[in-house]
Amino acid sequence: MYDKNNIFAKILRGEISCNRYFENNYALAFEDINPQREIHVLVIPKGEFSDLDDFNNKATDIEIAEFFRAITQVVRQLGISSSSGGYRVISNIGVNAGQEVPHLHFHILGGEPLGRMLSTRPLKENG
Ligand code: 5GP
Repeated sequence: MYDKNNIFAKILRGEISCNRYFENNYALAFEDINPQREIHVLVIPKGEFSDLDDFNNKATDIEIAEFFRAITQVVRQLGISSSSGGYRVISNIGVNAGQEVPHLHFHILGGEPLGRMLSTRPLKENG
């Protein structure tokens, strides 16, 4: 069940401000409030989808195509395409991935060397 009160739903409704980079009928891209790298932008679909699985199950073909195309448009606008240094895309889905906001989002990270994909393994509880 999609939570209409999640932070990104509020951003889409204009109830919370954001530093936006890109917008079309299907997607919105804005700066992450707590950037983890030189460039850290979030791309979200405008429809109500809680994560990637929900999106692929329910979104129309045009919503899916335009959302994924928006990622490349944002990357081009940011000047970090593969020919200009490159970037990393991450989407956290569910508890094990540490998803905090239950509205599908892709993190776009770049602007500097990003290091290993996963730098540390979390410690397991009780050893
Ligand atoms: P997740 O852990 O769900 O993959 O990532 C959620 C991201 O949303 C985090 O990187 C966090 O910094 C970002 N975030 C949380 N609240 C806000 C907000 O109000 N505005 C913006 N721009 N980003 C937010």
